[in-house]
Amino acid sequence: MAYTVPKLTDYSTAALDRATRDLLSALEEESAAVRTEPEYEALRIRWRARKDGIVTQVNDLWLKTAPRQAKRNVGQKVNEVILSRVDAVLQERHDHVKNLGILEKARAAGLDAELDAARCAVELAESIDITLPGVRRPIGAEHPIIRTSNEIVSVFQKLGYSVADGPIVETDYYNFEALNFPPNHPARDTQDTLFIANQQSKPQRERLLLRTHTSPVQIRTMEKMRPPIRIVIPGQVHRNDPPDASHSPMFHQIEGLAVDTNITFGDLKGTLDHAMKELFGSSVKTSFRPSFFPFTEPSAELYVTCFVCGGSGKRGTEPCRPCKQTGWMEVLGCGMVDPNVFEFVKDNGYDPKKVSGFAFGMGVDRLALLKYGVDDLQLFFQGDVRFLQQFS
Ligand SMILES: [Zn+2]
Repeated sequence: MAYTVPKLTDYSTAALDRATRDLLSALEEESAAVRTEPEYEALRIRWRARKDGIVTQVNDLWLKTAPRQAKRNVGQKVNEVILSRVDAVLQERHDHVKNLGILEKARAAGLDAELDAARCAVELAESIDITLPGVRRPIGAEHPIIRTSNEIVSVFQKLGYSVADGPIVETDYYNFEALNFPPNHPARDTQDTLFIANQQSKPQRERLLLRTHTSPVQIRTMEKMRPPIRIVIPGQVHRNDPPDASHSPMFHQIEGLAVDTNITFGDLKGTLDHAMKELFGSSVKTSFRPSFFPFTEPSAELYVTCFVCGGSGKRGTEPCRPCKQTGWMEVLGCGMVDPNVFEFVKDNGYDPKKVSGFAFGMGVDRLALLKYGVDDLQLFFQGDVRFLQQFS
């Protein structure tokens, strides 16, 4: 006869244990008989339906009616033993049913390899105590932002660049001053910096903040290594931006720096043109447009022909949204390192009269959005496995 939830009259621990044991053994018996998805669905509804499922009935018949002094004890039993056990058994049975399904399909299609794998899974499940909670180890994958970052880094590694790293909590000196943002420089306002609290007593250059760009690592690297250098710096940065579809208080950049004797703007253009072709395909064209950054002079923004519409501004008869119909996309900022920046590391061989260099920086998150056609930046950071699984 099918199990029904009894009314409790005796709320002693012994009676409660007995009732719980009966319920769980009924669950295990019913679950063991399930072999197909429809059967599983019926089992799930019988036990877990919000309205009138067995777990709900237990709540109503045992917990709600329990006398005040027994409520705590009954509540613990219901939540810690019954609820978690029911969910574990259902989950396991569902996994088993899925394996049986794969086995059936593979058998029908005559797929030997899949047949073997599914048979193994089923045999394994049947040879062990299936009521024990299973160990599930889902296989992970690179996060789409990390993958994009690694792709960009590897393009520059092939050109002989090495990877440099630096702290995320940075001093005002490295984040601003040594990059040619003097105190009160208007460019500091545009950065919306997140400062660490309670540092008013420190001199400004020692105050800590969350780095607003990966550029401080340029100075840190030049302090440690003498020229020539070629580095790329991937990493997390923070700005005081409220999260929305295209902003996040935490995001990712990749910065690059090359310093040597006789480095010219021509080297900058050639390097970045090559890198863009590696990243987006050999048919992209690049365009450099004048811009301003405190730590480079002259500065430019680099545009590439839109890799969604190929530069036409149209997708079929529809306007191309990613490039706003212009056919061009801005991908990074770059320029020749300002001689004032070299002054801060002059003693380590960076005499601005003898060396020159170029630097560039790009937002990895935005490139990942464009590359994967995602329309909301927040999806990358919410950790929803259903979203992330699409990239595995
Ligand atoms: Zn386009």
